[in-house]
Amino acid sequence: MKKRILLLTTGGTIASRPTEEGLAPQGDGQVLAGALGGLRESYAITVRDILCLDSSNIQPEEWQLIAHHVYAAREEFDGIVISHGTDTMSYTASMLSFMVRGMPIPVVLTGAQLPIEHPLTDGVDNLRTAFAMAASGVGGVFLAFDRKVMLGCRAVKIRTTHFDAFDSVNWPLVATVGGRGLEIHPEALPPAAEACVLAQELCSRVFLVKLTPGLDPEIFDMLLKMHYRGIVIEAFGAGGLHFVRRDLIAKLHKAALAGLSVVVCSQCLYERSDFSLYQTGQKALEQGVIEGYDMTTEAAVTKLMWALGHSKSPQEVREWFSRSLAGEVAL
Ligand code: ASP
Repeated sequence: MKKRILLLTTGGTIASRPTEEGLAPQGDGQVLAGALGGLRESYAITVRDILCLDSSNIQPEEWQLIAHHVYAAREEFDGIVISHGTDTMSYTASMLSFMVRGMPIPVVLTGAQLPIEHPLTDGVDNLRTAFAMAASGVGGVFLAFDRKVMLGCRAVKIRTTHFDAFDSVNWPLVATVGGRGLEIHPEALPPAAEACVLAQELCSRVFLVKLTPGLDPEIFDMLLKMHYRGIVIEAFGAGGLHFVRRDLIAKLHKAALAGLSVVVCSQCLYERSDFSLYQTGQKALEQGVIEGYDMTTEAAVTKLMWALGHSKSPQEVREWFSRSLAGEVAL
C-alpha cells in the first residue's frame, strides 16, 4: 500500500513565479502539483496550502499555525512534507522540533533555490528526498536539501544561492541519498522523546546580539526598557565578552537582576562554546548566563522563545536549557 504523505505548502522560492517586483510565491499547491507527477505514483499525496509567503515573512504566528497543522495530521498520515522558503527554514525547523517534540511520524521541511517551474530547478530533487524521508517511518522534524537530510534543530542556511545551501551543524547527517536510495544513519537520530504533545506557547520578545569589538553595553539598557525577556548573545570564539572600558559583564548582572534570561553561544559556526576556558567567559557565567554549548543560533533563539513561553521563572527557563529536547544540544 502506498504511504500517505501530506504536503503542507507555505510559499518560498520553490512556489514562486516572476512578478514585476521580483520572485513572489503564487498559490503553491497549483504550482507544485505539476512537479509531483512522478511522486504520485509512489505515494498517496494530499496537498494543503496553509500559507503563501516568502519565508522572510514567516514569524512566530506562522510557526504556531504550521505546528497546529502538523500536530493535527499526525494520525491520519504516515509522513508530512512542508514546502517552505529557504531563508528562514532553519528557524521554522528548530521551532517545530520543540513545538511538536516527540512527533511519531517524519515531518520534513524542504524548498528550493530555483522555482519549481524553472527548467533547472533543484526543487524536484529536494521534494523527492523529502518525500522519501517522510515515508521512512522515522519520527521527528527534519530538513531535506540537496540529497541530504538533517535534524531540523541542527540545520543552518550557509549559502545564499548554491544548491548545497544547508549544513547540519555539529551533528551528523540523518540520511543521505546515494546508490542504495535513501540511507538513514541511525546514530544521528536523537534519543526517543516522550509522547508528542502540541506545545505551541512562546514568547517572541527575544533579541539576538552579535558582539562586535567595542559594542556599547548600553544596548542592554535599551533592551530592558523595551521589555525584552530573553537575549541570545553570540560571543567571541569559545566564549569571550569585553569588560575593559565598556563593561558588558556589569550589564549582564543588571539583566539577571531584572529577570532576563541570557543565553550565550559562540559566533563561530562549528564546535562548541566553553565559557569556563577564559577569564572573560567565567565572569559571564558568574552572572548566571545560560551556556548554549554547541547549539546553532537558530536553535538557541527558538528554544529561548519556546522556553520563555513554557516557564514561570528564569530558573525554569534554565532547566529547559539543561536538557536536550530534540537533539539540539550535546551536553
Ligand atoms: N526568499 C525566499 C524565501 O525564503 C528564498 C528561498 O525560498 O530560497 O522564501
